[in-house]
Amino acid sequence: MSVRTNKIALVTGAGSGIGAATTTSLLREGYTVVLTDLPHVIEQRWHQTLPANVHPFPLDVGDRNSRIDAIESVASEYGRLDVLVNCAGISRDARLTNITDSDLELTLDVNLIGALSLVCQALPLMEAAGGGAVINIASRAWLGIFGSGAYSASKGGLIGATRSLALEIGALGVTANCIAPGYIETPLSATLPAQVLEKTLHSIPVGRGGVPDDIAAAVRYLVCEGSYVTGQVLTVCGGRSIGDPVSL
Ligand code: NAP
Repeated sequence: MSVRTNKIALVTGAGSGIGAATTTSLLREGYTVVLTDLPHVIEQRWHQTLPANVHPFPLDVGDRNSRIDAIESVASEYGRLDVLVNCAGISRDARLTNITDSDLELTLDVNLIGALSLVCQALPLMEAAGGGAVINIASRAWLGIFGSGAYSASKGGLIGATRSLALEIGALGVTANCIAPGYIETPLSATLPAQVLEKTLHSIPVGRGGVPDDIAAAVRYLVCEGSYVTGQVLTVCGGRSIGDPVSL
């Protein structure tokens, strides 16, 4: 098993949090990274001259034409894709009994449908590369979280689809896995109410909140060339998915 070098990776939601840490980590590993995020994020942060191995591109994962544009850009620029990391994600917390149809649709469009559709569009480029790795960033929330039903549904759907996908694309030399982060300090999790955050941090067995690099390390593990790991969910949550630590 070896690290892929001189290879092309596309990361969605790469402008912030876990996507940004994953991009930095893949660049260090020698990848050329197609760094994608919403158009306003790309415009604000990547207007300056960049090294040749960083290729910023606007991609709204919830928009079909935007997905097609991004994959066409990779096809014309590189003719191949080795790694796809679906990191873009949104959370519209509300009890399922209260959530609006538009928030439900948006959450599923970005977190589930957009991510899966991007994989399907990217597969011919992975086949052209002779194989590759798809990493879908799910969430520990797929197990169910109070007041987060739409988000949980999107991440649970992503996990089910990734397992099916692994069966379909294994013969192409492409692996497909999910990472299910627990609490990770990012702008997304900064929206948690203070008392929820405090309770969350106390319930993490390893005694600290996660950082984006914890997830980037899991991505590095899963993208290794020739990996025998596919169709799996790697939960990276400091042990919180096992249960609360009990202090006697
Ligand atoms: P983040 O810091 O908010 O980064 C997400 C990035 O995705 C942002 O740059 C965001 O842009 C972008 N984005 C939003 N909608 C998009 C769209 N339609 N198309 C393309 N990009 C879009 O969040 P994060 O915490 O790093 O989360 C990354 C992934 O990890 C998500 O899938 C999230 O569900 C998952 N996750 C996070 C945690 C956690 O505790 N942080 C836990 C479990 C799972 P804007 O800033 O403009 O919205």
